[in-house]
Amino acid sequence: MSQSKSEHTARFDVVVVGAGLGGLYALHRLRGLGMDVRVFEAGSGVGGTWFWNRYPGARCDVESLEYSYSFSDDLQQEWQWPERYGNQSEILRYVNHVADRFDLRRDIQFNTRVTSAVFDPDSNRWTVGTDQGDVVSAQFCVMASGNLSTPRVPEFPGIESFAGKWYHSGLWPTEGVDFSGQRVGVIGTGSSGVQMIPHIARDAAHLTVFQRTANFSLPARNAPMDPQRERSHKAEYSARRRAALDTPFGIAGFPPPTHSALDVSEAERRAAYEAKWAEGGSISFLYSYTDLLVNKAANDTASEFVREKIRSIVRDPQTAEILSPRDHPIGTKRLCLDTGYYETYNRPNVTLVDVRRSPIIELTPTGLRTQDASYELDSIVFATGFDAMTGALREIDIRVAGGDTLAERWSGGPQTYLGLMVAGFPNMFLITGPGSPGVKTQMILSIEQHTDFIAACLKDMRKRGLSRIEADPSAEMRWVEHVNEVADRTLYPLANSWYVGANIPGKPRVFMPYVGGFSTYKKRCDEIAANNYEGFVLNE
Ligand SMILES: Cc1cc2nc3c(=O)[nH]c(=O)nc-3n(C[C@H](O)[C@H](O)[C@H](O)COP(=O)(O)OP(=O)(O)OC[C@H]3O[C@@H](n4cnc5c(N)ncnc54)[C@H](O)[C@@H]3O)c2cc1C
Repeated sequence: MSQSKSEHTARFDVVVVGAGLGGLYALHRLRGLGMDVRVFEAGSGVGGTWFWNRYPGARCDVESLEYSYSFSDDLQQEWQWPERYGNQSEILRYVNHVADRFDLRRDIQFNTRVTSAVFDPDSNRWTVGTDQGDVVSAQFCVMASGNLSTPRVPEFPGIESFAGKWYHSGLWPTEGVDFSGQRVGVIGTGSSGVQMIPHIARDAAHLTVFQRTANFSLPARNAPMDPQRERSHKAEYSARRRAALDTPFGIAGFPPPTHSALDVSEAERRAAYEAKWAEGGSISFLYSYTDLLVNKAANDTASEFVREKIRSIVRDPQTAEILSPRDHPIGTKRLCLDTGYYETYNRPNVTLVDVRRSPIIELTPTGLRTQDASYELDSIVFATGFDAMTGALREIDIRVAGGDTLAERWSGGPQTYLGLMVAGFPNMFLITGPGSPGVKTQMILSIEQHTDFIAACLKDMRKRGLSRIEADPSAEMRWVEHVNEVADRTLYPLANSWYVGANIPGKPRVFMPYVGGFSTYKKRCDEIAANNYEGFVLNE
């Protein structure tokens, strides 16, 4: 593969888009193969999600000893996590440490957004353009542009007239925001809203929460890291990482359930849910029984348990009712983890507004108007999520010279082979793309698995003197059908979630993640690789 650079257009083996956890590992791994790699990152630093989402209370939902890279035992042994769940600044510190430890920054160009990528079928190379005027050539593109990296601000009329300040959770100012003494409105009660609401309520003079959809949230039970727990986890780190590969979510330590929720008595079920509620965390709770995500009656038992908890915590019955999710089975939307979320609604300075019943009509110079009332606000926070899974890719003009863009190709919803490649777009890999289990797993493990697959594939191609790889359209079609069949066997399609693009007006409703489980997926990828990259077409 070419290492040379022409006078005019810099030439690389690989361009990687994004310097989050995915892009950094791709750089490290591909550099290790002797490849010349250039990473472009829109932000001014590494970290992706953890660089952008600096809102108060931002925290990982997966325990920090799990939510970290496994590729270097030295790294995982030496790094010390101060808490059970890493908060945003701890994780960002970790990612910066990784960038320094593995000398990654020298190949990353920050403050640079990739705007186009055009493939030339004659030379089998991509020409990549950026908003800084760069034009570079690369044989391969690796899209590590993130599943939750395109923040969505709803198009409320009057937003430009609002005289206060507004923020989006995923574009939080680096210097932080001081809400003390302010009347603050938070719009949205998904994961980010649930995390930030208790914090803002403590600082603000008054907080009004505007909720369209009630979401289930479980207590995180965050705590300082238990030194004994850290020691024993680290003593078994490699074995635990290996065990994680055999699980549906990519996290070891949760014994697979053996019974249906409907096979046990009401008392036994309640005791099990109580124990999980006390323990904290979402995986353990959803793993209580075999059928919580496939059988509505089984799921109802868990959903009702959490609704009861909400009623027992929130003193005002009407507020408790508005907070109680009734339009989706628990676990079919991203299950939130919180610290004191429901308790926050007992504070005298917090008001909940049900905007499903009384929709937001417009923003005004002094706040916001719903169908029934006006609210005076100094600041508005949009915790309204992201154009998930496809947003970042659709924003780039990706095409084969003279052909349709990826956005056009996906106008009816994304189609991929294994979430790794798109038929008709040769030499372009996706990290945890739609059609892969990525967002349903401990994502760093999925990032490593995808990147390792890509690295092994490129190494093999180099050995065999091949320069072009693409997904076979029929293999892609079969995979898309399989992803849908697997989803249809579960309760997931019952929810209007970002997994189906339901939070973006006009986005085609397609179930995007693969929910057959990480281990099943990985085995399939391994078989495909062993079978000479079955379903991919490789050429000289
Ligand atoms: C608030 C929040 C909490 C989360 N909690 C968890 C959790 O508990 N557990 C879990 O497993 N996962 C969690 N996630 C998912 C998280 O996104 C992943 O775990 C992981 O950080 C993804 O890394 P990534 O590199 O694939 O993508 P990202 O971290 O999104 O990084 C993508 C990068 O690409 C850049 N980029 C995008 N487009 C372009 C372009 N055109 N040009 C240049 N640069 C571009 C972006 O600026 C960004 O820095 C959470 C996500 C959010 C938003």
